[in-house]
Amino acid sequence: MIAIEDVSKRYADGTVAVDRLSLQIPDHSITVLVGPSGCGKTTTLRMINRMVEPSSGTIRVDGEDIQRQPVNALRRSMGYVIQNAGLFQHRTILDNIATVPRLLGWSKQRARDRAADLMERVGLDTGMARRYPYQLSGGQQQRVGVARALAADPPILLMDEPFSAVDPVVRRGLQEELLRIQGELGKAIVFVTHDMDEAITIGDRIAVLRTGGKLAQFAAPDEILSAPADAFVEEFLGADRGIRGLSFLSTRDLELDRSRVVAAGSGAREAAGRATPQAPVLVTDEAGGPLGWAPRDWDGETGTLEPCGPPFEVGRDSLRVALDRAVLSPAGQAVGVDAAGVVLGVAGQDTIAAAIRAARRGGSPGAPLDAAACAKAL
Ligand code: ADP
Repeated sequence: MIAIEDVSKRYADGTVAVDRLSLQIPDHSITVLVGPSGCGKTTTLRMINRMVEPSSGTIRVDGEDIQRQPVNALRRSMGYVIQNAGLFQHRTILDNIATVPRLLGWSKQRARDRAADLMERVGLDTGMARRYPYQLSGGQQQRVGVARALAADPPILLMDEPFSAVDPVVRRGLQEELLRIQGELGKAIVFVTHDMDEAITIGDRIAVLRTGGKLAQFAAPDEILSAPADAFVEEFLGADRGIRGLSFLSTRDLELDRSRVVAAGSGAREAAGRATPQAPVLVTDEAGGPLGWAPRDWDGETGTLEPCGPPFEVGRDSLRVALDRAVLSPAGQAVGVDAAGVVLGVAGQDTIAAAIRAARRGGSPGAPLDAAACAKAL
C-alpha cells in the first residue's frame, strides 16, 4: 500500500504542482491519476520514486516513510514505464529488459533467461531478442518498456502516459495486455494518463486531479461516471458519460428474443414472411452463425439478406456494445452470440433500454462487468 499523506510540491520558480494531496493506493490494483495537462500527475508519480522530492507531507510504502529509505533501493522496488518507452538505444531488446536484474547482481545467463520469459509475458516474439529498439514499432517498444519495468519483479509499477504515443488500435491492445498481466501478477500499479477513456478502461480506482494539483475525486470508474463530484469532473468526463457508463453493465441477463431467429433452409422463407419492421427475422447459417435480416418478401436466397453487422457476445460485451450494435443495425436490433459465434437471440433498442433502466435501478439485467471484461467491452 502506498499512502500519500497531505503532500504538496512547490517548484523553485513558485509553481504549485501538487497541493495537499492525500491518496491511499492499495496493493493488487490499478490506480489511475487523470486530469488535464499540467495538473500535477507526473509530479505526483515522480514523488513516489523520489525523482521529485515533496515540499511537504509524507509518502509511505507499507507504512514506511520513503524519505527514510535509500533512494536506489526504493527505485528498484518500483518499475517505471514512460511514454516512448525510454529504452537504451545501443542495447538489444534482451539486454534492455535484463538491465535491472544485472544491476542487482544476477548472472548474465539468469538475467537473460528472465528477460526472455518476460518477452513472452508481454506478448513479444522472442525472435526479436537480438534486435535494437529502432528496429521495433512504437507498440513493441512499449511492451519492452513494460517488460523491463517488471524484470526484477517489483511490487509497485509506476506508469507515466505509457501508451499515449501509439495509435488507438495498438493502444487498446497494450491496455488489454496490461490488464491480463495485472491479472497474473497483481502489482500495485499507479498509472498516469490525460485520457479519461483510458482511465476508465484500466483503472480499479481513478484519482481526478484539477489544475493546481488538487484532488477533485477519487473513486471507482463507474462511480465517477454516475456521480461526478463537481462540475469540473463532469466537464472533464465529456458529454457522453451516460453512454460510457454502460460499459460497466453486462449483457449477461439481457432478454433475447429467440423466436425471430431462423436457420436458412426449409421453413425459413415462411418464417421471414411473418416479419414486421418492428419484429424483423434473422437468418442464420447451419452452424447458427448470423447471415442477415430477411426482407418481408424474401426469396430465400441468402444473397438478398440485409447485412446484420457485427454481433455482441452475450456476457462478455457490455450493454454499451449491445446498444451500439442496435443503433448501427438497419433493423434496430442487436444480435447476441455466444463465444463460438452462435446466435443466442436478438434484442431491439427498447429491450436494451429496459435492461439499462433495470440495471440503473439495481435490478438483475446488466450485472456489473469485471475490469478485464470492460477493456474488451469499450
Ligand atoms: P501533468 O503531469 O499533469 O501534466 P506536471 O506534474 O508535469 O503535470 O506539472 C504540474 C505543474 O508543474 C505544471 O504547471 C508544470 O509546468 C509545473 N512543473 C513541472 N515540472 C516543473 C519544474 N521542474 N519546474 C517548475 N515547474 C514545473
